[in-house]
Amino acid sequence: MNRRSILKGALGGVVGLALPPFARSAFSQERPAVVPVSDGFVMLTGAGGNVLVRTASAGQVLVDSGAAAFTDAVLADLRALPGGGHATTLFNTHWHRDQVGGNLALGRSEATIIAHEKTRAHLATEYYLRDEDRYEKAMPAAAQPTVTFFTGDQTLAGKERIEYGHLLEAHTDGDIYVFFRDANVLAAGDAISPLKDPVLDWFGGGWLGGRADSQEKLLKLVDEKTRIVPSYGPVVGRAELQAESDMTRMLFDRMLDFIKQGMSAQDMLDAGLMKGLSRTFHDPARFAYDAHKGYWAHHNSLAPEVL
Ligand SMILES: [Zn+2]
Repeated sequence: MNRRSILKGALGGVVGLALPPFARSAFSQERPAVVPVSDGFVMLTGAGGNVLVRTASAGQVLVDSGAAAFTDAVLADLRALPGGGHATTLFNTHWHRDQVGGNLALGRSEATIIAHEKTRAHLATEYYLRDEDRYEKAMPAAAQPTVTFFTGDQTLAGKERIEYGHLLEAHTDGDIYVFFRDANVLAAGDAISPLKDPVLDWFGGGWLGGRADSQEKLLKLVDEKTRIVPSYGPVVGRAELQAESDMTRMLFDRMLDFIKQGMSAQDMLDAGLMKGLSRTFHDPARFAYDAHKGYWAHHNSLAPEVL
């Protein structure tokens, strides 16, 4: 080993130690993996959040655009797919930065960006990130959604129907699903979380009641053959969605009962909130805290005896 490679190795070690994991990934320019979803659909994974792509020579339709650090890599992947990187339409499942980082490049290339009106509002103005105690800056006009809605709508890609709708307070205040009905492919955003702990951005308007209702709404759209694409993790089917929905409803009912007894998040964990669930949470305290905060924001809609 010469001096140069030792120095390089040492520097690599220092950088690796000094940066927290999120910063290391932010500098990464590794190409996202291209995962087949079904005929004419692939998912780019490892770009921050998953990016669903409907490939077609007439133009690609995307659901989410990944984190900004991966934009060049995402665009390179898109160019190599049928449709050659010409994106006609981009949906944003919500306004978190892992989902909208490629908006600027795609908006500048004149893709129509479709999102819930709350997502547009978040991206068009500064908003406060409570956990980080800072304001996220507004995105440039070209990165903002150009077509917005409140409850839902539909459009066509070729002759195929694309239906999309609001998932009220499932994870943020601007969550949507995008359902390619004829292809039977459903993008569910972060309203489902098959692998990671469920995330409730309570300060951004997400709560457990909204998540439980939204997952039941998604169940009504799917059948045994539907391919369901989450913001993070693998493509799943109806059985996995049903299992997660059952777990969410169980957690909601338990917490409602505990809230009525005046419990804190820690009291709930001590009282067996997570007992017998179909999966083990990585950070149950974080989940319980966020979910508990969400109930406080919805006391007026729980039940008359709560207040
Ligand atoms: Zn999110």
